[in-house]
Parts: sequence; structure tokens; C-alpha cells
Amino acid sequence: MNIERIVKKNVSLLRAYNAKYIPCSIKLDANESPYSINVTAKAAAKINTNRYPDPEARELKKIIAKDLGVNQDNILQGNGSDELIYYLITTFGGPVLYAVPTFSMYGIISQALGEEKIEISLDREFDLDIGKILSAVKKERPRVIFISSPNNPTGNCFSSDRIFKIIKKSKGIVVVDEAYQPFSSKRGFLPLLRDYKNLVILRTLSKIGLAALRIGFLIADAEIIREVNKVRLPFNVNSLSQAVAIEALKDKKLLNSFIRTIISERERLYKEMLKIKGIKPFPTEANFILFKTRDPEGIYNALLKRGVLVRNISDLVRNCLRVTIGTPEENKVFLKTLKGLK
Ligand code: PMP
Repeated sequence: MNIERIVKKNVSLLRAYNAKYIPCSIKLDANESPYSINVTAKAAAKINTNRYPDPEARELKKIIAKDLGVNQDNILQGNGSDELIYYLITTFGGPVLYAVPTFSMYGIISQALGEEKIEISLDREFDLDIGKILSAVKKERPRVIFISSPNNPTGNCFSSDRIFKIIKKSKGIVVVDEAYQPFSSKRGFLPLLRDYKNLVILRTLSKIGLAALRIGFLIADAEIIREVNKVRLPFNVNSLSQAVAIEALKDKKLLNSFIRTIISERERLYKEMLKIKGIKPFPTEANFILFKTRDPEGIYNALLKRGVLVRNISDLVRNCLRVTIGTPEENKVFLKTLKGLK
């Protein structure tokens, strides 16, 4: 039997998300935190394994609502923010507009769901090409617009006034994906939620040391939450993840100190990379640095040979690699290796 013939066309044309296991000793490829949070047996012991998880993740949402200064009915929990991207496109449909290069899941999920994609290239400064986006908004009326700010993989925040303009002109939902906001010096878009009903914000616990749990949040007007909640699978965040996240989020001091270390290491790494001939790091507000080299393939392989795994994204941004900020020790090895290669 020819399986491909019975697969939906949009799925058979799809390329799976690139999340391969590559053995290495220093893992700087996936924008994870280098710091794991200690999980106690106490958190796990609270779980009744015979019962389904709390379908509404009430205790977890309560903590998040307090942290973000919003009401609980403005929050929807996801199995990672990936899942919430899926739910948003399922709820509102296409066309789905986003600027490229950006996080690949906006495109992959749109295509998986058979929705039209509108991809608009960033300008030379890696900022939103506002002219092109507004004209596409007018002509093609996208139902969902994704804006990753700070943007993955470029690392920069887009100009706030350009994002405002898009929110104001769009007749659809505008999703500001703030996965990397904890590392940014710019103000996020949470304070604007009250003013713009079509604004949706995405946050995740993945970048601050809890990627293993798969927990993300969508923050929006309660009416949007109610609609998206209709397509949410009932028990999408499992009990162990809820319990461990609740425990971890109680120690905000520790989480914040990790974030501060990552930011100061990022600044140090950026300055050091500027000094290396043949390497051009781009300014960043995230927990990673995009950098240009003459030979991305060669540098990627040479780093990996020495156990340092980075991300080769030269298919998305010409001649570029992306390195996640690691611990000071890991960053030292990365720098020393990179310096030795040039
Ligand atoms: N948004 C952006 C911009 C990302 O880079 C990522 C992770 N790479 C995600 C969302 C997904 O995060 P998660 O599903 O782990 O919450």
C-alpha cells in the first residue's frame, strides 16, 4: 500500500521540525537554560497517579496570574507554547502571516492544518518590514499574525511602534510571542492587553529552566481564552509537570538569579565574539546569539568535533549559526574553541 497517496497533500509536503538527537558534551543548540531546577520527591508524591490532571491547572494558573498581574480567566495553559500556536491557528484559521526568518512552528503548524501562509521577509536590520506587512494586512486580511519579539533566530526585539501599527490595523488576532521576554531589556506587550482586544501574548517556562515540563501560556482577553479553550485537549498539561512547575515557581529568587547570570554571560560572550576575526555576532535581547561566519558548515562541524553543539541555521539566515548562552564554563569552552578555529 502506498501510504503517501492517502496522506493529506498539505501534510505530505510538510518537513518535520528539526529536533534530532545529536550527541555532544556542551549543548548550546536549542535555546534552553543551562540551569536545571532541583525537583524534590515531595512534588511528585502529591500526585494521585490514578486521577487525571487538573484540567484547568488552577493552582499553576493562579501563580502565573499573580506573577504577570493578570486575571486567571485571561490565561490558557498549553503543553508548551507550541501547542498554543496549534490551538490559535485551529481556532482562528488562516491566512496566517509572520515575518521570516522566525520560529519555524508558525509555518509548520499552518501547513499541518492546511491554512494559507503569508511570509514577509524582515528588513536589513532584522526589523519588521512595516510597509509590506500593512499592505498584506489590507489586501489579504490575515486572521492570525505571529510576531516573535525577541525574535528567534535573529535575537532582536522589533520596533514597538511597528508592532503597535500592526495591532491597530489588523482585523485579526495579533500574537506577540514573548518566549524570550525574560532576557529582554525592552518592555513587553502585557500592559497593552487591556487596550487591544485582538492582542494575544505567548509565554513559556521552557527558556527559564523548565523545558522538560512542556508548559506555555497564552494571555489574552477572556473572550479569546474561551474560544481557544474549546479546541484545547482536556488534560493537556500533565500532573507531574503541574506539580513540579508549582514548586519551581515558588523560588522566584533562584529563577531570577539564573536569568541574570544568563544575561550577563550573553553580554560578555557578545563582546568577546566581536573581537574574533571572521565572526560577526548580531545584537540580541534573547538567551542566544546569532552570528555570521564565512564557513558556517565548517565552523559547525569543527565545534561539534570538540563536543560543542550549536545550531546551523544557514538555510534560514545566510552564513549564520546560533549559539545558546550556556554556563560561564560552557561559554568559555565555546569561545576558546571558536577562537582556535578562525
Ligand atoms: N516561540 C518561540 C519564539 C520559540 O523560539 C519557541 C521554542 N523554540 C517556542 C515558542 C516554543 O516553546 P515551548 O513550546 O517550549 O513553550
